[in-house]
Amino acid sequence: MIEQLARDGGTPVRTDPLPSTMDASGRRFGDDEVKAVERVLRSGMLSGTWGTEVPALELEFASLLGAGHAVACSSGTAALHLAVAAVDPDPGDEIITTPISDMGTVFPIMMQNAVPVFADVDPITGNLTPETVAAAITPRTKAVIVVHLFGKPAAVRELRELCDQRGILLIEDCAQAYLAPVGDSYVGRIGHIGCFSLQQTKHISAGDGGLTVTDNAEHARRMRLFADKGWPRDTDERTYLFLALNYRMTELVASVTRAQLTKLRSVVADRRTTAARLSSAIADLAGLTTPPDGGDHVYWQYPLIVSEAAGDLREWAAALTAEGVPANGGYLSSPLYAAPAVRDRITYGRSGFPLQDVEYPPGLCPNAEELIGRTLLVLPWNENYTDSDVDDIAAAIRKVHRALEPR
Ligand SMILES: *Cc1c(COP(=O)(O)O)cnc(C)c1O
Repeated sequence: MIEQLARDGGTPVRTDPLPSTMDASGRRFGDDEVKAVERVLRSGMLSGTWGTEVPALELEFASLLGAGHAVACSSGTAALHLAVAAVDPDPGDEIITTPISDMGTVFPIMMQNAVPVFADVDPITGNLTPETVAAAITPRTKAVIVVHLFGKPAAVRELRELCDQRGILLIEDCAQAYLAPVGDSYVGRIGHIGCFSLQQTKHISAGDGGLTVTDNAEHARRMRLFADKGWPRDTDERTYLFLALNYRMTELVASVTRAQLTKLRSVVADRRTTAARLSSAIADLAGLTTPPDGGDHVYWQYPLIVSEAAGDLREWAAALTAEGVPANGGYLSSPLYAAPAVRDRITYGRSGFPLQDVEYPPGLCPNAEELIGRTLLVLPWNENYTDSDVDDIAAAIRKVHRALEPR
């Protein structure tokens, strides 16, 4: 007999909420962060322009990743905007990116008046591939922004080789992939520029904040200026060298981030350990594909591919959530190119600029549409999950699998 699902009035597998990034249960904010904030407040200097915390964070983050330069800013979206500004596209130039990400990957392209070109993704990982990117390159392509979705590195070495061959820049959006290894390096260090977010739900957080890394001194200087109205504070002149806004990080954010950085390795290790426990606990279930992990996935979230044979995606998400294991069907409601701002060109007044000459029709990226519409089940993941939390998640998945499997 099949146990009744909580959705249908049965007893849920779990009634205690799992640790979550939405409160202290799933965040590692402690005495170090409290001391950091107090140190800054008592110093009387809260601005990174004259303070010590932002420069110290930049040195520490660059050194953690083995990068020549790090530039701090106010969000992950700002970090990506800094990177696009370093590319410095002419209006109408193209930047290739993915339809499955946070919109913070795409809007910086449009804000700099360049055109996002969406390449399709791998049907399991949801990452751009060298093949799909190669097929999207045109004479107007200036750069590629690759996302390491949910913490799984994309084939970034091959992408770098492709970009070098074609004379374009590679930007890595590592907002979901802190310290994900690529050979003996990390994501963010294979492309020309790596971008990171400190938003509430990422591996480490200070509420909001962003970081970029690069080895290129010119790109670093351009990004620093772009975060500060183009104001060259390293000279005596009060002048503004190019069009730019204020994306500065504050001392409070930098001090909390410095404390968080000391915990990053253990956050990643703990997420990997519990994710491996779940993957082995459900490995035998027909129709489910656990995330491919060559020792390199850092599990911002835990993505599971549900084949049609295993049941309907949205039903899976609702049934698991009812069991006390929150799950999200598809990650996004639609690919990024189907959002009104992009597809309907809701941009600058009624101009539609810079998208006036492009169309993003349904079916543009079939693998991405299949993932979002039918196969991608996303479980929030957390460094504070215990083995028993993971055993509950596995039990809920097994229960829903028994009940929803068509027979
Ligand atoms: C979170 C995220 C962003 C945006 O970062 P914010 O700090 O929220 O602006 C961009 N790209 C990806 C892949 C993200 O996960």
